[in-house]
Amino acid sequence: MSELSEQAPAQRAKQRAEQREVVLEVEGLVKRYDSFTAVDRLSFAVHRGEIFGLLGPNGAGKTTTIRIVMDIFKADEGQVRVLGQPPEAVRSRTGYLPEERGLYRDQKVLDVLVYLAELKGTPRSEGRERAMHWLERVGLAEWAGKKVKDLSRGMQQKVQFVASLVHDPDLLILDEPFQGLDPVNVELLKELIWELQAGGKTVVLSAHQMNLVEALCDRIVLINRGRAVLYGPLEEIKREYSPRAVHLRTAAPLDGLPPHVVRAEEQEDGSYLLELGDISPQALLRYLVERDVPVISFDVAQLPLEEIFIRVVQGEGPAGAPAATQEPKGGDDR
Ligand code: ATP
Repeated sequence: MSELSEQAPAQRAKQRAEQREVVLEVEGLVKRYDSFTAVDRLSFAVHRGEIFGLLGPNGAGKTTTIRIVMDIFKADEGQVRVLGQPPEAVRSRTGYLPEERGLYRDQKVLDVLVYLAELKGTPRSEGRERAMHWLERVGLAEWAGKKVKDLSRGMQQKVQFVASLVHDPDLLILDEPFQGLDPVNVELLKELIWELQAGGKTVVLSAHQMNLVEALCDRIVLINRGRAVLYGPLEEIKREYSPRAVHLRTAAPLDGLPPHVVRAEEQEDGSYLLELGDISPQALLRYLVERDVPVISFDVAQLPLEEIFIRVVQGEGPAGAPAATQEPKGGDDR
């Protein structure tokens, strides 16, 4: 075995261990507003270097949870550990893009950014350098000397994104960061979030655009009425909610339905959507290969996250299992 191949598994194991280092831990969190329970025994963990989706319908308790993590509110019960410490101890190592935007409107963009970085312990000259770097990255370098109020809404949004990370935090919490951005800026922000992840940052993303969540997030927690109703790696969740169907493309038309295939629907592009009865996708593929069916492609069909979200929030589980009997996925995945 070469030295390289001996090192590779060790390297991978180290990477995995680093990834599993818990950066944010929320345990049994409860927050009440008078008699209304907005967050109800919520638990989840975010690992170093991942992009983690904090999802849920309007009023689910996402912002309340984030505010507790950011030490803006105190929890009534439960525990939050950020980088292994209570939230108040690590303020300079966390960054937050709040849902409600608010920068000092009469101040100049660069001054605001340097000031905010300074509040989080970054020396002026360093803050200035970082602010200019990030303003360039979001295409706003020429606006550094303009007053915040002279910028468009989308531009202000990008400045606020810069404000959340100008002090170089380890954990970045982005509450609806894509709100109000045009498609070009959505792409830009996506790229920047990936870049932050590649640089070792941990990102918690709360967003309602499920296509963006699917593109960006490694794991998610879906909250409904203050409780976790889905939790775990996005890939696993999508597999669990797959609709028992496969997409099949063949070089020649199918000669009748394979056994236990309930329905074959020919698609516009000439492929088939096969609805499976009592047969697994693996068994079906084996059957096709054994009979020399000229398979070009074979994919297990998946539901878009948006549909899974709607099903779970409306109380339906994956195929054949009511949601009420479902434990949040990955509860032991700490
Ligand atoms: P959205 O997606 O609409 O932003 P959210 O998941 O962030 O929703 P929260 O803002 O955390 O939801 O609100 C959770 C629940 O708590 C809602 O029913 C809301 O009305 C209530 N709530 C939030 N803040 C307060 C407050 N300061 N006083 C009383 N109730 C509140």
